[in-house]
Amino acid sequence: MRILVVEDDRDLNRQLVDALTDAGYVVDKAFDGEEGHFLGDTEPYDAVVLDIGLPQMDGLTVLEKWRRDNRIMPVLLLTARDRWSDKVAGIDAGADDYVAKPFHIEEVLARLRALIRRAAGLASSEISCGPLRLDTKTSKATVNGTALKLTSHEFRLLSYLMHHMDQVVSRTELVEHLYDQDFDRDSNTIEVFVGRLRKKMGMDLIETIRGMGYRIKSIDSKA
Ligand code: CA
Repeated sequence: MRILVVEDDRDLNRQLVDALTDAGYVVDKAFDGEEGHFLGDTEPYDAVVLDIGLPQMDGLTVLEKWRRDNRIMPVLLLTARDRWSDKVAGIDAGADDYVAKPFHIEEVLARLRALIRRAAGLASSEISCGPLRLDTKTSKATVNGTALKLTSHEFRLLSYLMHHMDQVVSRTELVEHLYDQDFDRDSNTIEVFVGRLRKKMGMDLIETIRGMGYRIKSIDSKA
């Protein structure tokens, strides 16, 4: 899962990026509205954290422009504490949720998880597929209750496929959601990660759809 953080306060920006990275996301950052708008317009993000008070272009304008151009990624707004009017304007401009400053980083993380979950049509913070379970709260995956030791790339790959269960996900799409904008992207490495994941899981839950990509098919856990 790939997140964009748009916040001009450098300390806060770094705090958010660090916390999100620790939580297993790949993160791009912007420090003004124009740069943020450009990234959100050109890169595919699974969610965006967007400050309202930004230089160059304010957060509400950024959001309105995205929505007008049919950019539908979930957006979590950062608002000033007492500005109820900002919250209303934000929701009306197309925000999915907001957090008022000052906030606890855990609240931002929880709200983002919920947004990503909802965008994927999932109700629970735990996603399962037969013996495989992914806990989005702890960023841990287990098979038959045994924790998998995954690298951050492997975890992101598994998480992305599980958030898009039953869909064929192309290698290009995976690359776009697994790496940040500065990474030297190589879609061949995806194949390597899939191979390692299969080995670590000890089962073949990830299907290769030739010429198309990969898919995890849902399995009725009661079956
Ligand atoms: Ca600001």
